[in-house]
Amino acid sequence: MREHAQRLTGLGTTIFAEMSARAVATNSVNLGQGFPDRDGPDSLLEDAIAAIRAGVNQYPPGRGVPALRQAIADHQKRFYDLSYDPDTQVLVTTGATEAVAAALLAYVEPGDEVIALEPYYDSYAAGIAFAGGRRVPVTLRAPDFRLDLDELRAAVTPRTKVLLINSPHNPTGTVLTDDELRGIGAVAVEHDLVVITDEVYEHLAYDGRPHRPLASYDGMAERTVSISSAGKTFAVTGWKIGWVTGTPAVVTAVTTAKQFLTFTSGAPFQPAVAGALALGNEYYDSLRADLQSRRDLLCDGLEELGFGVHRPEGTYFVTTDIRPLGHTDGIDFCRMLPERTGVVAIPHQVFYDNTDQGRPLVRWAFCKQPELLREALTRLREL
Ligand SMILES: *Cc1c(COP(=O)(O)O)cnc(C)c1O
Repeated sequence: MREHAQRLTGLGTTIFAEMSARAVATNSVNLGQGFPDRDGPDSLLEDAIAAIRAGVNQYPPGRGVPALRQAIADHQKRFYDLSYDPDTQVLVTTGATEAVAAALLAYVEPGDEVIALEPYYDSYAAGIAFAGGRRVPVTLRAPDFRLDLDELRAAVTPRTKVLLINSPHNPTGTVLTDDELRGIGAVAVEHDLVVITDEVYEHLAYDGRPHRPLASYDGMAERTVSISSAGKTFAVTGWKIGWVTGTPAVVTAVTTAKQFLTFTSGAPFQPAVAGALALGNEYYDSLRADLQSRRDLLCDGLEELGFGVHRPEGTYFVTTDIRPLGHTDGIDFCRMLPERTGVVAIPHQVFYDNTDQGRPLVRWAFCKQPELLREALTRLREL
């Protein structure tokens, strides 16, 4: 067999596969991968089942079923006062993951630089590599993981084409502030950059913080590929229904790439997600309140155990520093943890190019039932 292509070099197997396998082998509580252990709203599940029974099982239209595109447009209007034409400014994708990949393929020429906030969500590195781009990290640094706008400005070169932004940010839990977002917008406008924003945790910003889409800032509407997904908002991460909103030109460009990745997917899930997006505010409010209280449960427990805890502003994840417990390397720590305590977590290091920055940091998911979080905390007393 020939060697595989260069673009796969360094991608390996995701850390989630390794850690989830360890979780199964050691019967551990898995706080590694960020999937909820309870399904989303009943009406959503029933609508998908009904759609399958009603024969909604063949290829949906390439841009997504009209009811879902309309529901996405309505959602953007309702929460952010952003107006999109569902026929020309909305694209349904196979999760946010495909949307990010298609957006990168649509805008990155070989050799172009893509600036992304480090630590990165793991599919970004692969998506940039597949597009032939070069990733350039701007690090969100411990302990507070704020964006340094001077560092962002300094990272821009004549080869920079795209800013890939994620807020609320996985894994740090940072929710970018109004000033940070305005600063990103100013850099993008000044250097005429495309901005791809991953907003899958848009409904999971805590303590009353608003989520603000970058597309709503000055000069950003025409250069932003806005991406979200049903997975996190409706606790159906296995459904892989995501979407893109933007100008007709942006949506056409991303569609052109997307149509030859999967063309289309999720026929019975699409109308079900359309219904869920229209759920009342009480759904969104209780989702957020519920996750916020689990955040606090896990953060309080980890603090009590002696970890350095960074209480996240959003998302499913808390980041801890393991040095107060006498450990220095998150990968060693996470490999030891399942055998020793029966708990699985994820080392930050794998999300960095500057691995030193992530070495003592470990990520724990709190999108789990409170009993399971308590069980994990009890087990961690073995440390
Ligand atoms: C979970 C996650 C995704 C993946 O979304 P899908 O809709 O499942 O593809 C993308 N980005 C971030 C930051 C995530 O945490």
